Amino acid sequence: NKTHIKPHVAVLPSVGMGHLIPLLELAKRLVVEHGMRVSLLVITTNAPLAAQEQLLCSPDLPPDLHIVKLPPVDVDKVISSDIDNVLVLTRLCLITEESLRSLKSVLVALGKPRALVTDLFTTQAFDVCNELSIPAYLFSTTSAAFSAFALFLPKLDSDVECEFIDLPEPIQVPGCIPVRTEDLLDQVRNRKIDEYKWFFFHISRLPLASGVFLNSWEDLEPVSLKAIKENPFFRQIPTPPVHPVGPLIKQEETLSTSDVECLEWLDKQPPDSVLFVTLGSGGTLSLEQQTELAWGLELSQQRFIWAVRKPTDATGAGSFFDVGSEENDPKAYLPEGFLSRTQGVGLVVPSWASQVAILGHPSTGGFLSHCGWNSSLESIAHGVPMIAWPLYAEQRMNAAMLVEDVGVAVKPKVEPGRTIVGRQEVDRMVRMVMDGEEGKTIRKRVKELKESAAKAPDISGSSYDSLSSVAKQWKTDDLGP
Ligand code: UDP
Repeated sequence: NKTHIKPHVAVLPSVGMGHLIPLLELAKRLVVEHGMRVSLLVITTNAPLAAQEQLLCSPDLPPDLHIVKLPPVDVDKVISSDIDNVLVLTRLCLITEESLRSLKSVLVALGKPRALVTDLFTTQAFDVCNELSIPAYLFSTTSAAFSAFALFLPKLDSDVECEFIDLPEPIQVPGCIPVRTEDLLDQVRNRKIDEYKWFFFHISRLPLASGVFLNSWEDLEPVSLKAIKENPFFRQIPTPPVHPVGPLIKQEETLSTSDVECLEWLDKQPPDSVLFVTLGSGGTLSLEQQTELAWGLELSQQRFIWAVRKPTDATGAGSFFDVGSEENDPKAYLPEGFLSRTQGVGLVVPSWASQVAILGHPSTGGFLSHCGWNSSLESIAHGVPMIAWPLYAEQRMNAAMLVEDVGVAVKPKVEPGRTIVGRQEVDRMVRMVMDGEEGKTIRKRVKELKESAAKAPDISGSSYDSLSSVAKQWKTDDLGP
């Protein structure tokens, strides 16, 4: 039985579909294309996420990929203070901290894997790896530009006294495109709170990794990748070897009944005619904003599928810990009569829809997205232009890049004196992306990138080769002295 001689590695994503999806994809590639055996260590809680469960139960997982669920964390015990006031990353890190108490014994029981791959927010595992002499790698599930910013953060933190958002100039990460302070991620907008402390804790451990995988590729981010690899600042940190392995995106998946209905509906629509609207694992809008979005969609008279969430005044990531599990009746909060007036033109589904299946359908011609990195990659890989609607985490940075540097998205403007995007602006954006003259350039650009996104991770592509070189290293190590 050859299984016994296949090298074994462990992969450890943090909570959240945006982390689980790309690390699962990495695990699958290692098994299917590089002859490894992989244990995917999954952090679980007493309130399992429906979308996560569905993904992990997929019958399509290859036999040498083992799902190992870590003992469930009782969320109420770990987060004792008023849970609604604990911000997303802090919550995620507290759960991880508790869950990883079992890591050492799990790794020992698994027979000490050849290597362990964490993501940005499971780096506590580095300490355990150190104790057990297991090389620890990190898979940064966001852009190379963001990873460069992250590697620069410790220097910024020691050089700057004030809040970063109060700096008079954009932040110049060496060799990279400057980051406007208004686009900075939530976690670095207030250095006094736990959210920043957790972020800083994990980010400053990046240089400790034996290697860093990036979900990106040369044609998408030439400037940032060159900077990380060649700029003297990054060399002197020193930055571990970086391996661009992207785009690693979710492949076909098991479809729910409602997903099948969406696809059947799409089959009946003309090519490139439908706008898909969904906001990541956690994205939610205020009632006022959601109402304007609904009216804007209706005014545009364009076809759409909308995976709609219950509105909330929370942080913009209101569903992060319960998407797909919560009660959700769109009739209760969408504008009166919206569903009947848009019947036939629009399809509203509660909470969650299979994004990759919809983006991959020939009738889909636009994507209104929160610009999470996975969503951005999935849209590009399927050649679908975007309306950028960033909400939380590093999404404003991603949106700026997609609009200004990559040229595959448009971004709505907030009207002067208001804090939300009005219905006329939504209408204008939707028409622009779907069929307007102005949208032509982005539609053309995204089709070009689609080709390069298919080539990079394919056999002999640059991303395939990068992953293959690390896998070979692991295999050689496995032969031992
Ligand atoms: N997703 C989906 N259906 C939805 C919303 C999201 O399948 O209705 C998937 C999407 O395809 C992507 C992931 O969830 O793979 C979201 O990851 P991303 O990095 O875009 O955002 P995050 O959830 O981390 O904010």
